[in-house]
Amino acid sequence: MPGFEIFDDSEKQQIAEVMESGFTFRYNFDGMRNDVWKARELESMICETLQVKHAHLVSSGTNALSTALASAGIGAGDEVIVPPFTFVASVEAIVLAGAIPVFAEIDETLTLSPEGIEAVITPKTKAVNFVHMCGSMGKMDEIKALCDKHDLILLEDACQATGATYKGKALGTIGHVGALSFDSVKTVSCGEGGAILTNDDTIYNNAHMYSDHGHDHIGMDRGAEGHPIMGSNYRISEMNAAVGVAQWKKLDRILDIQRRNKKALKDALAQYPEVSFREIPDEAGDNAGFLSFFLPDEARAKEVVAALGAAGVPAVFYWYGNNWHYFKNWTHIQQMKGPAKLPIELIIDRPDYTQVETPKSDAIMSRAISMLIQLSWSNEDIQARIDAFDKVFKR
Ligand SMILES: *Cc1c(COP(=O)(O)O)cnc(C)c1O
Repeated sequence: MPGFEIFDDSEKQQIAEVMESGFTFRYNFDGMRNDVWKARELESMICETLQVKHAHLVSSGTNALSTALASAGIGAGDEVIVPPFTFVASVEAIVLAGAIPVFAEIDETLTLSPEGIEAVITPKTKAVNFVHMCGSMGKMDEIKALCDKHDLILLEDACQATGATYKGKALGTIGHVGALSFDSVKTVSCGEGGAILTNDDTIYNNAHMYSDHGHDHIGMDRGAEGHPIMGSNYRISEMNAAVGVAQWKKLDRILDIQRRNKKALKDALAQYPEVSFREIPDEAGDNAGFLSFFLPDEARAKEVVAALGAAGVPAVFYWYGNNWHYFKNWTHIQQMKGPAKLPIELIIDRPDYTQVETPKSDAIMSRAISMLIQLSWSNEDIQARIDAFDKVFKR
C-alpha cells in the first residue's frame, strides 16, 4: 500500500517549487505565489482521475471524515452506523461531531453487510459510515439501495482504498460523500493529508468553508470574506499538497505494481485447501494494497500468523488481536473516555459501548489475516514469501 516506498526526486522538486516560487498557504497571497497552487492542482487531478465533481483537500483523513460528516448535515444526537473492523478514526470523527456511533456486523467482504446495516437502523439513524477496508469494497449496489430506501447519507471512508473502483466508479464517489487519506503509510502520501469527495455542490461548499473557519473563499481579500457558517482549521499546507501532486502522478504505477505483486501471492496461496479469500464484489477494482484471507478457525489463524512470523514474512496483520483496527480491543472507546466530558455523555439513551457485541464479525475476523502488498518487492522477495508459504500452509 505505501506510496512512500517510491518517493524520489519528483516529490522534492514539488516541495522546492512551493518554497522557491510559491507560498505555504493554500489560499490568497496572489501577489507572492507566482501562480503556484499545489492544493488546487492536486484537487483537480483527483477530480479528473476519480471522475468526481469536487475534491477538497484537508490536513488528514480523520479531518476529511469530520468535515464530511458536518458538511452532509450529520451532528449532535444523530446515529451513524459503523463497522467494528475499521480504524479508530471512524469512531472518533462521529463522537467528536456529537453524533452516536452504532456498530453493525460485517460479512466476508470485510466491510459492513447489508443485513448488518438493516438490523440496526432506527428512526435516529442519519448515515452509514461505510469503510472500504484494506483496499477493496463491499456489496455496493445493495448498500446504496439500502441507504436510498431508508433515506440515509452514505459516507464512504476510502482512506485505505485510493484508486479502487466498483463497476468502474471510484470508491469514495458512489455515496453522497467520500473521504481519502494521504497520511504517511497510505497508497498515495502527502506526508499528512486527506480529501473529501462529492458530486453534491452543497456538501462541497460546506466542506471548503467548514475546513477553513467558515470562510466563503469569495474574492481576493481574505480579511473581507464572509463566514456563512462556523468551522475550524483543517487546511492542508501547500508543501503537503505538493508531495501529493508528485505522488498522484504515480497512482497508475502504484496500482499496477500492487496488482501484479498481489496476484503472485494470491495464486500461490490458492493451492492450499485450508485457505479461502476475502470476498471482493468487483475483483478488477481492487486496489490490491492488501491480500486478505481466511483460515478454517481462530486457532489455526493464530498458528499461521506465528508461523509466518517465524518463517520471516513481515507485515502480516491479525486484525482481531490488533489495538487500532478492531472494536473488541478498544477499551478507551468502549468506555468513551476523552480528556474531558464528551457530547455523547449528555445523551441519556446512548448505547452502553462496554456491552456492544458483534458475534458475526468476531467469527469472521478471528479467522482473517491480511498481508501488506509492497511496491519495493523484487522477484526474489516475492519468491521468498511463496517459499515460506509452503512451510506454513497445509497441502
Ligand atoms: C488512515 C485511515 C483513516 C485516517 O486517516 P489519517 O489521514 O491517518 O487521519 C481513516 N479511516 C481509515 C479506514 C484509515 O485507514
